[in-house]
Amino acid sequence: MKSLLLLSALAASLMLSSCITTPITGTSAFNMFSPEEDCELGTEAYSQFTAEATLVTTSFGDKGKWKDTVEKVMSDLASVAEEQGYAYEVKLIDDDSTVNAWCLPCGKMAVYTGILPICKDATGLAVVMGHEIGHAMARHGTQRMSLDTAVQTALSLATSDENLQSLGSLAYQYGAALPFGRNHELEADHIGLILMARAGYDPREAVVFWERMESLSGGGSTPEWLSTHPSHETRAKELEALLPEAMKSYMANKP
Ligand SMILES: [Zn+2]
Repeated sequence: MKSLLLLSALAASLMLSSCITTPITGTSAFNMFSPEEDCELGTEAYSQFTAEATLVTTSFGDKGKWKDTVEKVMSDLASVAEEQGYAYEVKLIDDDSTVNAWCLPCGKMAVYTGILPICKDATGLAVVMGHEIGHAMARHGTQRMSLDTAVQTALSLATSDENLQSLGSLAYQYGAALPFGRNHELEADHIGLILMARAGYDPREAVVFWERMESLSGGGSTPEWLSTHPSHETRAKELEALLPEAMKSYMANKP
């Protein structure tokens, strides 16, 4: 009986020490990783990915101009994000057939050229990139890794570079490749909307952007980025509810 009590006390203290509060939304979540570990994993996974991807690296031509805009939006959003010790970074991936964007732990982001026509301009980019930063700020990638028993086993072994590499590829799976659940999507929307408003981008454009994205999903050609997200009605309703708060912030910060 005594040992049972001790055991449950231990378990409770582990849960408590792993319970985090999400910035902006204030919700509680379970995460076995520290923000520093998010950064180790995110950075490792990102360097593995960018070593093989085709990046837009010059400022010349249409894609070059977009690269500059993508970097500007990133720096605007990062400057109003909560301080978590992240080194925010973005790469524009030269791939017109992929309508996608993601952000790994620690704020390591990829935007694919295929999503640019839907973004149309810097404000549309701020919707997509704010949402993706939302996933990183809420630490959804390592939250999900925390529930994976394979990760728990790897963590119980001594940390070596090899371990970090295998966890790095899991960080990519859980932070970029696998779809997030509906609640994580709506939470990322919430954070993204507030961030874009704080950075001086009109948050009303978020609803308009989602309509553009939604209109592409007819006829069985759902864009990759949209396929993992909640229904348009749910999303629009949630965004409308948050708009008054976002507008206050936007009016105070608009250029
Ligand atoms: Zn998302």
